[in-house]
Amino acid sequence: MDLINTIRDSIRAIPDYPKPGIIFRDISPLLQSATAFNATIEAFAQRYEAEGIDQIAAVEARGFIFGAALAQRLGCGLTLLRKPGKLPGPVVTERYALEYGEDSLELQETAFTQPQRVVLIDDLLATGGTVAAAAKLLSRTQAELVEAAFVITLDDLPGEQKLRELGISCYTLCR
Ligand code: IMP
Repeated sequence: MDLINTIRDSIRAIPDYPKPGIIFRDISPLLQSATAFNATIEAFAQRYEAEGIDQIAAVEARGFIFGAALAQRLGCGLTLLRKPGKLPGPVVTERYALEYGEDSLELQETAFTQPQRVVLIDDLLATGGTVAAAAKLLSRTQAELVEAAFVITLDDLPGEQKLRELGISCYTLCR
């Protein structure tokens, strides 16, 4: 619980960013605090270290930060789910709606050609569109999605419910 309080206290709420009416959760102070960043990775590690995870699949861009540190901590691999046009070679693509806008994610076709236990990670769950698209990409491979993990879940948006309806287990450090 101390870990979680340390993490929560390090997240800043910025009103009216990037548009009026949006309260943006800024993780910059969390990253700038060695204690809070370490607490974040430690909290995820406690959840997954006995789960036989083969790969962390991380969503661009802030998911990369937590995904890379967690993969290193767990001693497993890291697979990048990237914005369009960033990954070389053949890719699979999924489009999705954002809380503010539209985007797509890509995964290299060479990823997950054998069964692997995967945790999907992003910094924040809002409407669930991003991670639903990420999970769809994984479902087109041999990845076994163990859980989707977030630093923050916005409880006033239906993201968690949407993912649960898709059969995706969710884990979050803060609400
Ligand atoms: P969703 O697809 O609506 O669940 O939005 C989640 C995605 O948007 C994640 O990749 C987040 O990085 C980003 N995002 C949405 N709102 C925020 C916020 O308040 N702070 C940081 N990232 C956000």
